[in-house]
Amino acid sequence: MEVLRTNDEMSKWREERYRKGQIVGFVPTMGYLHRGHLALMEEALRRADEVVVSIFVNPTQFSPGEDLDQYPRDLEQDLKLCRDLGVQAIFAPEVEEMYPSGFQTRVQVEHLSQNLCGLYRTGHFSGVALVVTKLFGAIRPHLAVLGEKDFQQLVVIKRLSKDLNLGVEIVAHPIVREPDGLAMSSRNKYLSEEERSSALSLSRALLAARNMVTEGERRVDVLVARAKEMIEAEPHTRIQYVQVVDEETMTDIDEVTPKAVMAMAVFVGQARLIDNMRLSPSLPCLSSP
Ligand code: AMP
Repeated sequence: MEVLRTNDEMSKWREERYRKGQIVGFVPTMGYLHRGHLALMEEALRRADEVVVSIFVNPTQFSPGEDLDQYPRDLEQDLKLCRDLGVQAIFAPEVEEMYPSGFQTRVQVEHLSQNLCGLYRTGHFSGVALVVTKLFGAIRPHLAVLGEKDFQQLVVIKRLSKDLNLGVEIVAHPIVREPDGLAMSSRNKYLSEEERSSALSLSRALLAARNMVTEGERRVDVLVARAKEMIEAEPHTRIQYVQVVDEETMTDIDEVTPKAVMAMAVFVGQARLIDNMRLSPSLPCLSSP
């Protein structure tokens, strides 16, 4: 496995694969890898001849006061996990390599970035769109595998790749959960034992909403009220939002449709956790761990 630190090294690696006619797959991450990330890599390895994983905690997608400095990092362990899985290359640039002095370009995906997390994390999706555009430019992969855990991000990046003719096929991977339902996240590291137990209320509330839909409930306000009630009943929780949106447009809906997704962001202690689930009974719910 090669560890590449600069855009030039990355481009050279990719040119060699192109010359050999290989399909290059890509998994962007911020590191501190868990089984959710590894599942994305396995999917990429199935679909591509060679796979690049980026490990970069991108400062432009954090707002002031967020956890950029505390964000967990363990490059040695990440490299070992990737090597053991059979990943061919890691792209792990320094911040100065990605944003040298004089850098001034911005990327904005308009409507899709505005609702949900966009309401609370100003500039977040603009930072995501920027770093993904740069990574796609340096790597020029044929395909990229992204998790439905960050479902708004996935929709934003699909739009971006299409709108800017980046030519990268975006492959969505279902959320990987712990056996008790907690969506895997690097930020779960912040949780104490008691907070972790409270954090289970997110997936339980999603499942409860989904079960209500299966039983015939279609009113979004009723579903949201029940989900909020379940989360608020647990200690250490502070809801940022619980919303139901159309999974393609990210706009709020009043009645459940086949494209309805319930999405939430909840602080549990210091950790801001997100989770989501499709509400339509015809679609899969909890992905197996
Ligand atoms: P991150 O390192 O948190 O920026 O995530 C990198 C990629 O892994 C994103 O596409 C995430 O959606 C995806 N991801 C993170 N956690 C999970 C999970 N539990 N299940 C599936 N994908 C995930």
